[in-house]
Amino acid sequence: MVISLAEKTRLGFKMEVTITHIQRLEIRLLGKAFVGYRARDGWRQSLPFYAFRCPVHGYVEDYPHGYAERLDCPLCSREELAAIRVAEDEAMLAEMSAVPLRTN
Ligand SMILES: [Zn+2]
Repeated sequence: MVISLAEKTRLGFKMEVTITHIQRLEIRLLGKAFVGYRARDGWRQSLPFYAFRCPVHGYVEDYPHGYAERLDCPLCSREELAAIRVAEDEAMLAEMSAVPLRTN
């Protein structure tokens, strides 16, 4: 499936995040709120997850990455990956159309 760049932003990735009123206040004041220890498929141990507000997707959850303990919006990351795939597909299509078709 080829997704055009215009459609990419309408993929509608969504994440259901349940937070309490206190957590909502915490996010407003501190930028993030601890929501519990969770493990994803293939993980050997669970990691602390935090809810925070993405300017694009609203409330989302992630675990801290790297020494800076950066929180990334998983939906933005997925959309970026989709955009890279679209760019790669478009580059491949451009390459294919640059090769003249043999007509004999
Ligand atoms: Zn986002």
